Amino acid sequence: MSGTPAFDGRCRACPRLAGFLDGVKREHPDYHAAPVPPFGDPKARLIVVGLAPGMHGANRTGRPFTGDYAGILLYRTLHKYGFGTQPESVSADDPLRLVDCRITNAVKCLPPANKPLPEEIRRCNGYLAAELGATAPGTVLLALGRIAHEASLRAFGLKPSGFAFAHGAEHTLPGGRHLIDSYHCSRYNTQTRRLTEAMFERVMERARELLV
Ligand code: URA
Repeated sequence: MSGTPAFDGRCRACPRLAGFLDGVKREHPDYHAAPVPPFGDPKARLIVVGLAPGMHGANRTGRPFTGDYAGILLYRTLHKYGFGTQPESVSADDPLRLVDCRITNAVKCLPPANKPLPEEIRRCNGYLAAELGATAPGTVLLALGRIAHEASLRAFGLKPSGFAFAHGAEHTLPGGRHLIDSYHCSRYNTQTRRLTEAMFERVMERARELLV
């Protein structure tokens, strides 16, 4: 989609999501309850692609993975590998800075039950395409989960069928960019140990290796 910006904080293109956010805002007037912008260094060479804001996390605070259980492991691991100035993200106005790293989501608005519909993922992909398309050659994308993996491929006009999702899998994208897959660091995946801290650190370490 040429001319699409990388982010529009007033987007209401998905009627179901816009209506849902209106209701959330009525119930929680102090919540962000709007599209959540990417967070971090605009020139970053590591882009973490998540799924969508969580109700009482990013949707409340306005910063990806902030206040979300999934953010605990994410921000701690980013800090361990030198991509953040502190191991926690508490609120959108805390002093945390990401270093050569940005975090974005495949879908910028909170979806009911954490499940965006396929057409919502597709509609939101124009923003992701603008954002990822503006990254430098050699950029590393770390996709958290299959939906982020497929959205990242679609952002480059690639068909997911040619690129199998697997934890730790690496794919080459246009411009010598790298796509690394990880299981999503959700509460479910970490508590069931589908994703352990060691597994998550291994993909982050690999991202670091690719960037030196
Ligand atoms: N919070 C986000 O911002 N994205 C996710 O994928 C999960 C929680």
